[in-house]
Amino acid sequence: MLEKLIFVINCGSSSLKFSVINPIKKKKILYGLAENFNDKSSIIWNFNNKKNEITFNNKITHKFVLNYIIKEIFKKYSLYDNIVGIGHRIVHGGNKFTNSTLITDIVLKEIKRASVFAPLHNPIQIVGIKKIKTILPHLKNKQVAVFDTSFHQTMPIESYLYGLPIKFYKKYKIRRYGAHGTSHKYVTKVAAKFLNIELNNFNCISCHLGNGSSITAINNGKSIDTSMGLTPLEGLVMGTRCGNIDPAIIFYMYDKLNFNINKIYNILTQKSGMLGLTNITSDFRYIEENYYKNKNIKIATNVFIHSLIKYIASYSVLMNNKINAIIFTGGIGENSVLIREKTIKKLKILKFFIDKNLNYKTKQGKMGIISTHLSIPILVIPTNEELMIAQDTFKIINNLKY
Ligand code: AMP
Repeated sequence: MLEKLIFVINCGSSSLKFSVINPIKKKKILYGLAENFNDKSSIIWNFNNKKNEITFNNKITHKFVLNYIIKEIFKKYSLYDNIVGIGHRIVHGGNKFTNSTLITDIVLKEIKRASVFAPLHNPIQIVGIKKIKTILPHLKNKQVAVFDTSFHQTMPIESYLYGLPIKFYKKYKIRRYGAHGTSHKYVTKVAAKFLNIELNNFNCISCHLGNGSSITAINNGKSIDTSMGLTPLEGLVMGTRCGNIDPAIIFYMYDKLNFNINKIYNILTQKSGMLGLTNITSDFRYIEENYYKNKNIKIATNVFIHSLIKYIASYSVLMNNKINAIIFTGGIGENSVLIREKTIKKLKILKFFIDKNLNYKTKQGKMGIISTHLSIPILVIPTNEELMIAQDTFKIINNLKY
């Protein structure tokens, strides 16, 4: 019998991540990345632990890349006939989607409508969905949208309303939507299973720390608050994004510094965060190595940790009388021994205590507990958004219990 595989597609503004996954065996068969669409573009992929690369001297597009993956790469490894469904990561689902969903014309319209809040992502993700219809016409009704926002649709109104005139919510749908939902959902499920607690009774604080970082408060397995907002710019200090700032800073830049809106947007999204503060890098491998050697790096890292502990502390009071765990995930959460140690050391008052030895050992894809026996469990769980997308897709196209 043919092995049934899901093709997972994540269209970024000028990149495309892809993988082919067996959702039953939880096995990644193929994965790859196409990037630098406008310059020296390339597609790099890994099959059977063997890395392959092709470069192009001309500009490439998302459509071109999808065509190449299906017509060349799938063909090369005889994968074409095994693909039974396609899972698309969609950045913004607005307030209509509480779960992943089969893509219909109505769903496509809603994704388009939510583009105002994710203008760099949603439109390009629609391009991906439409292109698949033409290259894999037999699977045109087997496409599933998995939203970064849908896990957070369980937030109560007091978590998602901003203190703005109410018409901005009612008329323009301006509210907190959150992001990284697929990751928070995945690590929460894995953590509940690891600790042998029913997901419906599981309360935790999930810290997804990567180039983009967000924290989510989870009660009874459901998101009740999250640090990202209308867009992924709000919340923690991130790699290049500023996170929370006084909105008056924007008026100051505009009025007093005569910066135009594009320049301000570029500063807040690309030039701020750890890159802006260190004036060197947003790469935590370098930051970790140089924490004790470079004063600016130390200050920037302490700002990052300060923003982290404020969220963890404030979310701890939102938990249903008990916190079952705190979870670290994402490139930094899964690997940075320094960030985890320095963060947890500041949370003694909340009964979190780190085991230095376990903390040191748990990195590079390892999952486990890094707290002492006196502590509320502190877990490191490598995220796997692609697997979550593949599993959701498989269940939905097969009408399995969701
Ligand atoms: P992500 O966006 O989840 O891929 O995470 C990217 C971030 O994780 C970058 O800041 C990396 O520097 C950081 N990272 C990846 N590997 C390590 C590592 N071994 N130690 C510290 N930080 C790491």
